[in-house]
Amino acid sequence: MTAIARKLYLARKQATDWWGLIVVAAFAFLLAMGQFSAKKLWAGDLMALTGLMVYAATLTRALMRELSPTTSEPRRRRLAPSSAVEAGQELELGLLLVTGVYILIVASGGLTSFLYPLVYALVSFLLIINKRRWVAGVWLAATGLLEITVGMGEGGSWATVAMHLTYLGFFAAGNLLVLSNLAKRLRGQHEVSISTELDRIREEARDFRLIASQLPLASRAARSREDEELRMAQGAVHHVHEQLFFTIDLLCVSLELNTAALLWIEPDPDEGKRGQRKDSRKTPPLIIKEMATASEMVRDNPVIENPGVLAAALRDPKPLRLKALGGRRVPPYYQGPEPVTDLCVVPLTDGKVVRGFLCADRVEDQPFTDLEQDALIKAGAQCMRIIEQERAFAAVERGKYEQEQFYRASELLNQALTLDDVYAKTFAALSAMAPYDLAVLTRHDASAGRHEVLAVRHAHEATDEEARSKEEALWAEHAASLADKSFTDGVCLVSMAVKNRHHMPATGEYPDSSVAIFDKQTRFDQARSVLVLPLVRGEQVLGAITLISSRVKAYPPAAREMLRVISHQVGVSMQNARMYQSMEERATTDGLTGLTNHRAFQERLEQLHALSERTGQKFSIILTDIDHFKSVNDTYGHPVGDAVLKRVAAIFTRRARKVDIVARYGGEEFVLVLPDTDAEGAAVFANRLREEIAAQTITSDNGSFSVTLSLGVAEFPRDSTKRHELIELADQALYYCKEHGRNRVTKVCDLP
Ligand code: GH3
Ligand code: MG
Ligand code: MG
Repeated sequence: MTAIARKLYLARKQATDWWGLIVVAAFAFLLAMGQFSAKKLWAGDLMALTGLMVYAATLTRALMRELSPTTSEPRRRRLAPSSAVEAGQELELGLLLVTGVYILIVASGGLTSFLYPLVYALVSFLLIINKRRWVAGVWLAATGLLEITVGMGEGGSWATVAMHLTYLGFFAAGNLLVLSNLAKRLRGQHEVSISTELDRIREEARDFRLIASQLPLASRAARSREDEELRMAQGAVHHVHEQLFFTIDLLCVSLELNTAALLWIEPDPDEGKRGQRKDSRKTPPLIIKEMATASEMVRDNPVIENPGVLAAALRDPKPLRLKALGGRRVPPYYQGPEPVTDLCVVPLTDGKVVRGFLCADRVEDQPFTDLEQDALIKAGAQCMRIIEQERAFAAVERGKYEQEQFYRASELLNQALTLDDVYAKTFAALSAMAPYDLAVLTRHDASAGRHEVLAVRHAHEATDEEARSKEEALWAEHAASLADKSFTDGVCLVSMAVKNRHHMPATGEYPDSSVAIFDKQTRFDQARSVLVLPLVRGEQVLGAITLISSRVKAYPPAAREMLRVISHQVGVSMQNARMYQSMEERATTDGLTGLTNHRAFQERLEQLHALSERTGQKFSIILTDIDHFKSVNDTYGHPVGDAVLKRVAAIFTRRARKVDIVARYGGEEFVLVLPDTDAEGAAVFANRLREEIAAQTITSDNGSFSVTLSLGVAEFPRDSTKRHELIELADQALYYCKEHGRNRVTKVCDLP
């Protein structure tokens, strides 16, 4: 009985793919018999209308099948999926469409109908979408057949029909050549781009498993962190499936089973909310996780809503053995009749919780023995161990990944020399370890009781401004409003973290947005997690790092611990960078006047000179020396001399443009370099400086006095193209001033 039902079921399943051919044949037959024409149709002829309805039903069915989403693959079979079925379906849909077009043409008046061009459109459409040449051949043959039947049915001559067919033939051939090649090329390109993308992902995953030092670069860290986690999870899931399948496939072979299936009880989303579970759903659905089978009757859809014969096992989870079923009670992982005779089900437990079942069945009337049941129980335990192991492995793997991130971050921070570099590396390190929408670095000035925002970064910086979602745009706005902000010590998380030298809030959660993070004016309504980490350096607190995220529980204890250590590192790096900065400043500036010193001047001049040589842009050098300075020192004392030098330097700095170089050349000599300025312009400027300084009255204990300057001006490239020669020439012009009365300006070009 079951065997017959089974055969019928399979026969029906396969026959449906050939409906298209049957319908085309029937339509052609109706046409040839003169039973289908516009006249009959409009007159409501029963035969014609029935034909039309059968056609519509078949087309709908085929379209539904085509459009319905294919279920994800829940199981593997030993049988390869049949490509003949796919071809049959492709063929059927095409034939139905061809028939449809001819029905429309006949209904609207035959071959002279205004709808006739549809044939051409359809032919080219079919030729583009076809995957198999022979299928396209059948389509074209059907088109030809219908063309002949319609043409001859209207009483047309063979000559006109032949002409139509020739046109169609040429059109199809042309299309086949041009369009299918084009489509093939596009398909090829698409496949190449997909496969390179997959290769990339695979390679990265592989790299990742090797772990050491192959971490994403800091700048990519924010983006890749989630990718990386996803990939890790994907890898783990894949691995679990491989091993589970191996286990049950082995079972299938060794116990001579028809099917071995691993069913999972779908976890209740409300789990944890006690008291709700029992009433909300009587039996949770079962999911087919993995399956090894010799049957063709297993379900396509992995979700089993009705447990059927497994209901007893669900109610009372202990091993269950059924025999002599005779195909009457079929396990729910089959979708049709299957002559199952014996079934053995063992629960899979994780501690005390039942997670699912391992089911085994046979079709040869061979009851399961105690020994076999034991084997199944052991295999079930093995399956659970596989999952458990993978879970532990994934956790270790993630831990390793995080630690690598951590070391990498501190290494990077150690290398940062400038403050900007420290900020950039801090943000990169943070995003590699903890998600944030906004990260803010603040500095604390204890004496003034103020916090000053040093740098802000929001996670959506890489996103195109236009493409940002509303929420992302909001974070960008917050970031903009925080830049350069400063606020006083008060009742806010940043102040508290700095004062207590401990991160705030203790849990990293932010349930109430009325609690101020920086000051009362700046609110973050969409924030769900906040963590302010003080930057502690010995006894001092330099400032704080604030992380804000719209995610709930973004900063769990383990992350907080790592962030705390990193913030320590940031404190050290910031202080180092400041020290480095001040050392660098000391090395390049003159202590007395604050101007660029001689060494730094030579460097800057060298850069400007190199640039000008390339671009051909002119520049001028003014070399200047204070007149009779020795007598100032002698008359008023060395400290007064120093004050004069400072005064002169201040005036130079004030009058110079940002692009100009103002340097102390040595003693009471100064040098100015004016880019994009010729000697005439520089001389005008030099005279203005001379006059302004001469007009200054300097007071001292020994009376007031004033000083004058002598200035020599040289121009690149007019006076010389060589750097040292230019200075030498400017010096000569200066000497000329000294020789000719001092308190004057001389251009090199005016030298005799
Ligand atoms: P001239 O008009 O020819 O330039 O006469 P001068 O007196 O300025 O001659 P000279 O350039 O030889 O003298 C430079 C003096 O500047 C010598 C030195 O004592 C003094 N001097 C150099 N550096 C400093 C400094 O840093 N502070 C002070 N107070 N004096 C300095
Ligand atoms: Mg002098
Ligand atoms: Mg001098």
